[in-house]
Amino acid sequence: MTAGADIVTLDHEGEIAIVTLDNPPVNATSAALRAGLVEAIGRVCADEAVRAIVLICAGRTFVAGADVNEFGKPRAEPSLQDVMAALEGATTPIVAAVHGTALGGGFELAMACHHRIATPKAAFGLPEVSLGVIPGAGGTQRLPRLAGVATALGVIVEGKRLVGAAALEAGVVDALAASEESLRADAIAFARDLLARNLPRERLLRRVRDETGKLAPDPAAFEAARAYAAKRLRGQVAPVRAIACVEAALDRPFEEGLALERETFRELETGPQSKALRHAFFAEREAAKIPGIGKDVPTRPIERVGIVGAGTMGTGIAMAFLDAGFPVTIVEAKDEALARGRGMIEKTYAGAADKGRISRREAEVRLGRLATSLSYDDLADADLVVEAAFETMEVKQAVFQALDRVAKPGALLATNTSYLDVDEIAAATARPQDVLGLHFFSPANIMKLLEVVRAEKTAPDAIATAMALAKRLRKIAVCVGVAHGFVGNRMLARRQAEATNLVLEGAMPWDVDRVLVAFGLPMGPFQMSDLAGLDLGWSRETSKGETLKERLCERDRRGQKTKAGFYDYDDARKGSPSAVTEEIVLAMSAEKGIARRAISDEEILERCLYPMIAEGARILEEGKAIRGSDIDVVWINGYGFPAWRGGPMFFADETGLAAIVDALDRHAATHGEAYGAPALLRRLAAEGGRLSDI
Ligand code: NAD
Repeated sequence: MTAGADIVTLDHEGEIAIVTLDNPPVNATSAALRAGLVEAIGRVCADEAVRAIVLICAGRTFVAGADVNEFGKPRAEPSLQDVMAALEGATTPIVAAVHGTALGGGFELAMACHHRIATPKAAFGLPEVSLGVIPGAGGTQRLPRLAGVATALGVIVEGKRLVGAAALEAGVVDALAASEESLRADAIAFARDLLARNLPRERLLRRVRDETGKLAPDPAAFEAARAYAAKRLRGQVAPVRAIACVEAALDRPFEEGLALERETFRELETGPQSKALRHAFFAEREAAKIPGIGKDVPTRPIERVGIVGAGTMGTGIAMAFLDAGFPVTIVEAKDEALARGRGMIEKTYAGAADKGRISRREAEVRLGRLATSLSYDDLADADLVVEAAFETMEVKQAVFQALDRVAKPGALLATNTSYLDVDEIAAATARPQDVLGLHFFSPANIMKLLEVVRAEKTAPDAIATAMALAKRLRKIAVCVGVAHGFVGNRMLARRQAEATNLVLEGAMPWDVDRVLVAFGLPMGPFQMSDLAGLDLGWSRETSKGETLKERLCERDRRGQKTKAGFYDYDDARKGSPSAVTEEIVLAMSAEKGIARRAISDEEILERCLYPMIAEGARILEEGKAIRGSDIDVVWINGYGFPAWRGGPMFFADETGLAAIVDALDRHAATHGEAYGAPALLRRLAAEGGRLSDI
């Protein structure tokens, strides 16, 4: 018996052999599966009583991809390419019967079969570029042949999925099963029908590699794919290389295209971007695990949600819950604020319906789940209340005292505070075990990240509940400790402060932004400030005019909303360098007695990133994040840190911690102790350890 004997099983229905793959949880193409499949196909083809083969999977899905753990390592024979060759070259026709998600190697496997039938919900996709590689087992060559160049580029470059009827229409499958349940029977009937039609051999053994009918040049599709890669996947190598492989499908014979694909795949999988993206992939899964809170810790039922405050965050958080099917009650202090908040939510849903993102009916259903009130009493039956009122301790404590009076026993009481001490907020109640932070990011109905703040007395089951809840909201949760700004904003503050120092010393805001955007961030610190508004917490009466922001606000330059901030903005909100800002910057440097100097791009990058990395190490040292990779998850999903650089901790490891400590020491000598590297960073640098591994 081969290694794959229990993974690959064989049974017969008359003249049809059914090969079943069973490799839980998602039938990944492990070495044993590959060996077992090649062996089974060989055996069945040698059996003269068998006239057709149905290839089907047990469990919840068809092959959902390669085993990500095998990436970047030498693979055991047979390779996935060998499997494809065995399937496509088989002398007995093979019908792939697909349910669930046929992704990556799974989709490629289906394309190497002679025919395909799928359930109405089956989804086909090639998400390899999200892991920094390209489809490596024929996907870039077979998909253009099967579905045309435009569809192939959409799937391979943009990560589009073809589901059920769309897969049929694209030519990816030949038939749909009547239902999710009838796949096996329908696949057998499909095979019998093929045999009954007396098809010529090349139709019966239809090999996608030989098809050319859909291989028409399509310059517009290539242009669109290149534009997408340049804009949405900026800085990433894999999409660009994938496009080149699809081009080869048009220009070169199949075998040559396949060779280019294989060579490209091998080069990319051992390259830095794939390594970083794989780190990000595993980091996200790891973040869900909290030491000491295992699966045995029960979660509390959360069905009804209350929200305090109908401002920017309250309305966004309300929509995050409404979108996930929860009934939501918002409580406000002021009638106008409540009306404005409801109006915001209605407008957002109307906009989504106008753009066809959701149906009008769905928009109505979601709004129908929303209740608004001016009385805390209406939160009495909520299982969870999220407070999103003003950011002062007095307001927060007053809200939590009120919640303590009305909330039912066991209800989770969460604050969305950005900076305040959650322990102090919890102390305003008689039930600190039920109090935690749920730090959503703006816009809360869109941003993926959720910092779950564990306060000193928060009960383990409250944390377990919050982590499980995040999944229902389709958010990525990271559990963090109480600290000023938690993980994300605490590190961000270091970067923003440093960016301002650079400007006072000699750079201009647009120099700093340019360097960070070139690094891969979606925007630089000053573009970000302009977007958020420079007048958060500012008022003309109390302005001391001591900071650049205050001086800009005094000139009514409050950011994008006033069409002027660090930048000047046109009607399309496109920013350009501002002479006024320059004048304010130069005046402030002079007042502070700073002799301005030329600052290199390298210095800008180091001084924006390294102090932030040092802060991350300090957070780890203090135990405010569970592991370094959690910090990467925060930055990738909350602040647009390029995933292909793996997050700030992984980036630091790859740059070399010793080099970072050296640079911090250099800056500390000229700029003071704020630059000092924390002990943990020094120790890891000396030992050759890694921040992202702890
Ligand atoms: P906001 O000023 O837009 O909204 C606050 C709302 O709370 C107002 O409508 C106000 O009327 C209401 N409110 C104040 N006191 C109340 C009370 N006692 N009872 C009921 N309602 C009350 O502020 P925001 O930007 O939505 O921020 C809310 C909270 O979220 C703050 O703690 C803030 O630090 C935090 N936060 C903000 C962001 C952001 O980007 N804006 C991001 C994350 C967290």
